[in-house]
Amino acid sequence: MTTAQPAMLVEVEAVSKRFTPQLSLGDRLAALLGSPVETRTVHAVDRVSFGLEQGEVLGLVGESGCGKSTLGRVIAGIHPPSEGRASIAGETVMGDGRTPLKRTTRIQMVFQDPFASLDPRVRIGETISEGPLAHGLVSRTDAPAYVARWLTAVGLPVEAAERFPHQFSGGQRQRVAIARALAMQPDVLVCDEPVASLDVSIQAQIINLFLKLRRELGLTMLFISHDLGVVRHLCDRVAIMYLGRIVEIGPAAEIFAAPRHPYTRALLDSVPKLVTGSDELVTFKPIQGELPSPLSPPPGCHFHQRCPRAEARCRSDAPQLAGGTDEGTGHRVSCHFPLAGEA
Ligand code: SF4
Repeated sequence: MTTAQPAMLVEVEAVSKRFTPQLSLGDRLAALLGSPVETRTVHAVDRVSFGLEQGEVLGLVGESGCGKSTLGRVIAGIHPPSEGRASIAGETVMGDGRTPLKRTTRIQMVFQDPFASLDPRVRIGETISEGPLAHGLVSRTDAPAYVARWLTAVGLPVEAAERFPHQFSGGQRQRVAIARALAMQPDVLVCDEPVASLDVSIQAQIINLFLKLRRELGLTMLFISHDLGVVRHLCDRVAIMYLGRIVEIGPAAEIFAAPRHPYTRALLDSVPKLVTGSDELVTFKPIQGELPSPLSPPPGCHFHQRCPRAEARCRSDAPQLAGGTDEGTGHRVSCHFPLAGEA
């Protein structure tokens, strides 16, 4: 998959995730009696492959419902995959859906809603130390100092260990959630929209915290976001996801300067921009049409119903993620008629 690239810390190979709701009692009875029963399957993630280098931040971007959060949860071990494999430094941490998922502490996750991800009845110190104690990363004697170290790392006072989640603001709660994840000493942090529920001023503080932690700890991160500005600021590479598939992946600077997939171009064009020398917003171009339902993804290229460049081939023939104009950068695009890479 990434043969031109350096050895990857994380390798994700052809991971798919489908959700099929259980049949109701009535439907099960009908099936037993031989009546045709429609089963509806959500195709959330479709044969996704990518790698993460040590110390790299990969942004995973797409519209709501494109499958990026599901992919993050599969990689973090929260959902078992339907198919596919993943490894960290050569150790398989995720087999196919037929084998039990191997739980690993090597990948930790930071969620969008810090309040929902913290137990309101548990003091912050206990929340942060619970996992490290359970996994033998710290002794009970050393736990208070260990908690203080991670609270300090995320910019909270050590006294915060004695408080409960409701005694913090949203941004502080997200700092606690980050400290809890880091205290497990993971190889990889999966961050699922970690600033989306915060005020804009607080968002900037948390992004700066990620930048600082990255500098100091050499964090490797999969950063899931629909906010292109945040991703541009934080990420080395970007993967663009559309209806369960990665349609473009490459260095962030290259993708933002010269996208090659029509969907990436449309995403960038949908962001409002200021006119130079004016304080008025230019008219932005919203993406045409709606994201199709993952219950019945369109055949061929999933984007063909919304793509201004679609031709007959696009409606039947699914494009593969292939090298772009400069394979040395790892820029790949999944399109039969990619853009020339214009800004
Ligand atoms: Fe558009 Fe066809 Fe490329 Fe899909 S494969 S993005 S429909 S040009």
